Amino acid sequence: MAVLVQKYGGTSVGDAEKIRHVAGRIAAARRAGNSIAVVVSAMGDTTDRLIELAESVSGAPDPRELDVLLSTGELVSCTLVTMALREIGEEAVSMSGAQAGIRTDTAHGSASIVEFDAERVQQALDAGRIVIVAGFQGVTHEMDVTTLGRGGSDTTAVALAAALGAERCEVYTDVDGIYTADPRIVPDARKLSEIGYEEMLELASYGAKMHPRSIELAAWYNTPVLVASSARDVPGTLIHEVAPTEAGVEGEGMEVANKVRGVTYERGVARITLRAVPDRPGIAAAVFEPLAESNISVDTIVQNASAERLTDLSFTVDRTDLRAALEVTEGVAGAIGAGECVSHDNLGQVSIVGTGMQNAPGVAAVMFSALAEAGVNIEMITTSQIRITCVVDEGQVNDAVRTLHDAFELGEG
Ligand code: ASP
Ligand code: MG
Repeated sequence: MAVLVQKYGGTSVGDAEKIRHVAGRIAAARRAGNSIAVVVSAMGDTTDRLIELAESVSGAPDPRELDVLLSTGELVSCTLVTMALREIGEEAVSMSGAQAGIRTDTAHGSASIVEFDAERVQQALDAGRIVIVAGFQGVTHEMDVTTLGRGGSDTTAVALAAALGAERCEVYTDVDGIYTADPRIVPDARKLSEIGYEEMLELASYGAKMHPRSIELAAWYNTPVLVASSARDVPGTLIHEVAPTEAGVEGEGMEVANKVRGVTYERGVARITLRAVPDRPGIAAAVFEPLAESNISVDTIVQNASAERLTDLSFTVDRTDLRAALEVTEGVAGAIGAGECVSHDNLGQVSIVGTGMQNAPGVAAVMFSALAEAGVNIEMITTSQIRITCVVDEGQVNDAVRTLHDAFELGEG
């Protein structure tokens, strides 16, 4: 029997009625002759509410305790879905991450799966049961509960699909697929019928709503992921291995339409600039090592060419990490004899992504001039082979996204 893994997001299991609806969908897939394992997120905004609760009793909730607390959100939804399935006559059983065999490292709040022994899930499937696994969580070798970072249920689902050798992982959510841009910002954004892992990874890391690690895993195990709506029966987007676009192969001259697959964005970006940094070996390590040790992830980094052996070093972090990052950086500045630390906390970023833009020099120029015409100032630029990201003022993010979507002719018709 083919094994199918399905994942339902928080809004899809947001109340009792939706849970019954989801149970009906799972039962239908089962009756179609599949062996089914399901991963669920916590109901609605449960995780946010649990975080608020923790913060209402503690200024800095203990990471171990917080993870146990947050893991309960998914326990609630997975048991309720299981009960709803049993109610309609399906043999179903729920499992926490630990029961399902998910081992992680000890990084509370953003743990990585290090081992997935799906034996127990497999046995239940073999016995003809539907297995409902609580997403977003695992357990360390010391049996401490961990969580995988916000949105981590996607990663649980893909990891489960890989561990079971499932044909594919179906992710059901409140949007019906991956779009060329966020349809709430760009009304004529187009739904993609398919997208490659690489492109999706760039999109997922820069705004589009999938847990980036889930895409890394899907690519590594070559597990296709279908993203579709749990409410409406319309075709979704298949994330899988795709050949480079025809446009990408042509790759000639200034013809830039079709080289870009999508536009994505992020808000809540903050920048720290460390001025008058002595330009000698070891300085970057001195700045970024302590940040890494404090678990602060740094995104864009720019170092100027030095004048008089002094340089400016700028980098971006999540706005929520700004305070902690400033503390660390100010400490380092003193130690290495650098000048002042300045920060700016009202930034965002926009990115264009597409494998077609490799070796297509016109693309960057089109991006920059489109932003210039729209009066959007570019604060910082970073690139990968298949992505160009510009850090801009947060208030201009929407304009920038619309402008780029137009410039690369990504819309309908
Ligand atoms: N419930 C968790 C969150 O809100 C994990 C998830 O939904 O994937 O981030
Ligand atoms: Mg999600």
